[in-house]
Amino acid sequence: MNKDNKQLPASKFDITENKLNELRDALYKKMDEIALLKDQIRQTESQLCYICSLDGHNMVTERDPGMYGDLYHVCTKCNYIS
Ligand SMILES: [Zn+2]
Repeated sequence: MNKDNKQLPASKFDITENKLNELRDALYKKMDEIALLKDQIRQTESQLCYICSLDGHNMVTERDPGMYGDLYHVCTKCNYIS
């Protein structure tokens, strides 16, 4: 009887703990996928910037919003900022 009383809560505990571990594993896999995608985006942006530079960037001057916004130069084709 004592054995049964201990087994039922332990089983529910184990099932819930397993579910928690599965959810954490799924989250870590997604985080790895996101990190990989971010890395691929950075590499592709860099490639695009290089290809754009071969023809020549089309730089325009823009100002950060706000009263004392800094000036910066950005390419209208590839968004390269200098
Ligand atoms: Zn460009």
